[in-house]
Formats: sequence, C-alpha cells, structure tokens
Amino acid sequence: MIAYQCDGCGRELKKGALRYRVKIDVRAAYDELQIGLADLVRDHRQELLDLIEQLSRKDPSKIEEGIYKGFELDLCPACQRAYIRNPLKFHPEQGAETPEIDIDGFLRSLGKAPSPEGDSGPEA
Ligand SMILES: [Zn+2]
Repeated sequence: MIAYQCDGCGRELKKGALRYRVKIDVRAAYDELQIGLADLVRDHRQELLDLIEQLSRKDPSKIEEGIYKGFELDLCPACQRAYIRNPLKFHPEQGAETPEIDIDGFLRSLGKAPSPEGDSGPEA
C-alpha cells in the first residue's frame, strides 16, 4: 500500500516505511526596530493610505509570499541523507550513500514505528 511519495526523487513510500518529514518556514526577518520620539509624533496617515493603495493593486498571494511561505516535504532515506548534507543545493541523485547505522531498524526496535508490512494483518 502506497501512502506517500518522496518529494525528492518521486519514489513511492509504503505505509509504515521509514520516511522523513521536512518543514520549511521562510519568513521575513528584521533586526530590532529602533523607534524614537520623532517616529511616534510624526503623522503616518498619508503613508498608510499610500501603502494601502499600493497593496490593493497587488496579488494577495504574492504579498503573502513576500512575508511568509511554508513547505512540508516527505523524503525517502536516501533523499534525507542528501538533503541534510546540503539543504540549499539538494539534488536527490546525490543521496544514495548507504548509512553505517540502520536507523530504520533502530527506530523499530524502540517500538516507535509499525513494520513496513503493517501490523493490522493481511490487506484486503
Ligand atoms: Zn527520495
């Protein structure tokens, strides 16, 4: 039974098989704002009206993307290894180095993951 598809290489990931979830938050970031008395007493009304006018002519999704964008990816073990090695230059074909430790076996030994075949008996 296929439950997921690797977002890196496209490989099918069976229900219960080891996969990795990547959550990416891309946010606008600023240094701490310095607000002085002059900023507080200045009339901002026209600035705000101009900004509202500018924003009203833009695509709301583009404005939102300029402030925040979130992604969630599912990766197979090979793509996870490639991804953590270099997240900004991730290419699935770089990933196939075999790990020295059987992470899947270790996690299953802790009882944290169901077997790849499923624990609910034979499939209908
Ligand atoms: Zn993959």
